[in-house]
Amino acid sequence: MTLHRKNLIDGEWLGEVGSRNINPSNTNDVVGEYASAGPEEAKQAIAAAKAAFPAWSRSGLLARHAVLKKTSDEIMARKDEIGRSLAREEGKTLAEGVGETIRAAQIFDFFAGETLRLSGEMVPSVRPGVGVEMTREGVGVVGIITPWNFPIAIPAWKIAPALAYGNTIVFKPAELVPESAWTIVDILHRAGLPKGVLNLVMGKGSVVGQAMLDSPDVNAISFTGSVGTGKRVAAASVEHMRKFQLEMGGKNPLVVLDDADLAVAVDCAVNGAYFSTGQRCTASSRLIVTDGIHDRFVDAVKERLHKLVIGDALDAKTQIGPVVDQTQLKQDEDYIAIGRQEGAELAFGGDRLERGTPGFYLQPALFVGSTNAMRISREEIFGPVANVIRVKDYDEALAVANDTPFGLTSGICTTSLKHATHFKRNSEAGMVMVNLPTAGVDFHVPFGGRKGSSYGPREQGRYAMEFYTTVKTAYTFAG
Ligand code: NAD
Repeated sequence: MTLHRKNLIDGEWLGEVGSRNINPSNTNDVVGEYASAGPEEAKQAIAAAKAAFPAWSRSGLLARHAVLKKTSDEIMARKDEIGRSLAREEGKTLAEGVGETIRAAQIFDFFAGETLRLSGEMVPSVRPGVGVEMTREGVGVVGIITPWNFPIAIPAWKIAPALAYGNTIVFKPAELVPESAWTIVDILHRAGLPKGVLNLVMGKGSVVGQAMLDSPDVNAISFTGSVGTGKRVAAASVEHMRKFQLEMGGKNPLVVLDDADLAVAVDCAVNGAYFSTGQRCTASSRLIVTDGIHDRFVDAVKERLHKLVIGDALDAKTQIGPVVDQTQLKQDEDYIAIGRQEGAELAFGGDRLERGTPGFYLQPALFVGSTNAMRISREEIFGPVANVIRVKDYDEALAVANDTPFGLTSGICTTSLKHATHFKRNSEAGMVMVNLPTAGVDFHVPFGGRKGSSYGPREQGRYAMEFYTTVKTAYTFAG
């Protein structure tokens, strides 16, 4: 069945439906047809969000709590159906799709609770008889621009705090995953959001996204995506003196030391580098391995890669789904060619795979004999491709791990308390993992990176308040 989905603007489902969404596991399967907005619709959505802000920002806490809680409950009740639909449009496995859907439900539940925990401070003034209150208020109209690789969790972790703290929203999802975006908006709309509070504007980044960047009425933008687009968001936001937050790429290191538990290290590497088809900003694409364990580690990773089931995302046996689309597949293959030209040895995989249906199937690729100066070590590939960099000891491993323009996550596999502790303190990343994959984080704690990976306040958990509110300091002299 082909779905037909419109945009939500000022509480009405609007727009001509025509843009097709294809299943990457089976390109003959059209998931649905979607509205693709022009700049005028983006402007209407921004105007609707602006008009809705005064009432929503002063709405009772219980009204906000009810919408977020109802949304969480419905997502959880429909987790299998929504997770399957996510897997169908993005290509991650059923288990990954359902897991991501559960996470979205947990995020809405968390922020439902946060609406009832808003607090401020009251302090005496330095002037006798004067009181000072510090409170937080919503920022206004928030533009939310999201990528395709977490089609429901990333929108959830931006929309839930934006609403909880009294903001109104114009939401522009990635073109490749409109169904997940539509589903989450439909649930929120039916949960009782007043018209104009949440607007969905599906369409091209260069059209809808750009209209949001160019509008003086968008007070804040939360963006997740590539570095190139992030820089455009930053430049336009500075021009309009608006708040902005960027979550971008990664080239995350996983260090494996001689004293590591080999089984743990292999689990961390295979999960971190290849699950979700390597299409995670937190993927560990650089495996930095000390001499003494190098050969055993490489052999064990290759053995695991041989056993991985790569196939249709909707087949319950599949462990690695297809690449998301033809463009990303070409990028992955181009980088595999670049790695070979640079002199790295392709120790496993890298070939296109044929399956029962036409899809973008790629065998996970593992390079060895690579250096940290190679392009495959420095540039984000965003596919199931990782390279091993051999180092002599912990000190060299740490130096190589930090020698990158990015700083999202990092990991170390070791049984040494000393090295684990030193790494946590000295790794130049926003999130550090010890004996855990670099990908896979909790929803109730801050998420974000350093250097070229992130800009602005952290997302998720209570730290989300920093971006989605602005502080007011009020003085009272009661006589
Ligand atoms: P992308 O930058 O191409 O697109 C992201 C969003 O920006 C999309 O909605 C797109 O339509 C929109 N956009 C494109 N041009 C625009 C413009 N001119 N103005 C406004 N919006 C515009 O990124 P992508 O390919 O969808 O996602 C992959 C990237 O996302 C990778 O680099 C990955 O590392 C990153 N990512 C980062 C995190 C994180 O939290 N750090 C999480 C997931 C993905």
